[in-house]
Amino acid sequence: MLIQVGPVVSAVESVLAEAQPGTPVLLMSPQGRVFSHQIAKDLAGHEHIVILCGRYEGIDDRVRQLVVTDEISIGDYVLTGGELPAMVVIDAVIRHIPGVLGAPGGADVESHADGILEGPHYTRPVEFRGLTVPQVLQEGDHAEIVRWRRKEGLRRTWENRPDLLMKADLTEEERYWLAEFVGEES
Ligand code: SAM
Repeated sequence: MLIQVGPVVSAVESVLAEAQPGTPVLLMSPQGRVFSHQIAKDLAGHEHIVILCGRYEGIDDRVRQLVVTDEISIGDYVLTGGELPAMVVIDAVIRHIPGVLGAPGGADVESHADGILEGPHYTRPVEFRGLTVPQVLQEGDHAEIVRWRRKEGLRRTWENRPDLLMKADLTEEERYWLAEFVGEES
């Protein structure tokens, strides 16, 4: 079963008539480009976004040809409908709208914001079941904490998502840390 072209194109055109010029029309699709931090950030710059969710086999391809500006996938698997992917997109986009997060620029310091993963977080107590909060976090030297966080974020990226490192823009010191991690494994 497929969703017909006529009703969808009419619905999109009527919504676009009241939206800003250049409003993106996104088709949620496992065939689209894979959603990312950067796509979310770019979309947050628009006043309006139209999102189309398929069901069944999807939507008549003429909808894509006539009104869709971008096809977005949330990953290489198939869901029964586009509603959950749309909610994923909406949630990731609104985090980039000023005022949505408590701390200004909060979305820019989390995993994927600059191509690598964020380091680990800790809170009280300092010791729990033999595991202690790293010494540097207990000492309060802000510059050292920032450096430690960056290094541990890089370590996580190396351990969990080494593919991200191919595109990451790393300093000389960060490349040195990577060499350290590689050395620790051998
Ligand atoms: N026949 C389609 C294909 O093989 O490419 C799959 C259709 S799927 C069962 C139904 C709808 O779920 C799609 O039209 C799309 O809107 C949504 N959907 C499923 N997987 C998705 C994914 N990974 N990312 C975004 N949307 C997805």
